[in-house]
Amino acid sequence: MTPADCFAVLWRETQRELARASGRPENVGRTVAYEAVCSVGVEAGIYIWRSGRFPTIRIYRSSDMPDDVELPDLKIRPVEDACTLAHERGHFISDPDGKRSQAAYTSLRNRDALTIRAKTTIIDEERRAWANGRDVLKALGCDDWSAFNAIEAECLRGYEEGLAGRPTGPA
Ligand SMILES: [Zn+2]
Repeated sequence: MTPADCFAVLWRETQRELARASGRPENVGRTVAYEAVCSVGVEAGIYIWRSGRFPTIRIYRSSDMPDDVELPDLKIRPVEDACTLAHERGHFISDPDGKRSQAAYTSLRNRDALTIRAKTTIIDEERRAWANGRDVLKALGCDDWSAFNAIEAECLRGYEEGLAGRPTGPA
C-alpha cells in the first residue's frame, strides 16, 4: 500500500484526533482542510494548536484547489497530500501544544536571527514529525515508502538549507 491508499482513512482519523484534542469530539468540520496559498513553501502544510480550542491542519495548494476543501482529494496529488498530512499529524503527536518548539518557529516565520538552540529545536522537531508520520501510515497498512522517503528528504533538506542561510543569533 502506498500513502495514497491510506489517505482517506488518514484524513478521517486525523479529523477525529484533532477534534478530540479540542474537547469537542463531535466537531470534526474544518479540523483538516486544504488552503489556497500564493506559493507553497518548504513544507506543504501546517499544524496549528490555537490554544487547543480549535487545533487544525491545513494542506497547502497554490493551484488545483479541490471543490470541497474538507475532503481528501484522491485525484490530483494524493501521494504528496497523504505524506504532508501524515507529517503534520506527526507534529501534533510530537509537540501537541507547541510548548517545545513554538518560540523557535515564530522566530523562523518572523525572519529573526535564530539561536543554535532554536535551529536544533526546529530540525529535531521536523525529524520527529516525519518519524511519527511514518508510524501513523504504517499503522494504516502503508508499506511502500518510496514517495514518502523522497518527500521527507526534500523537506528536511529545505529546512537545513534554510536554517544554514539564516544568521545565528546570541543564545
Ligand atoms: Zn514540519
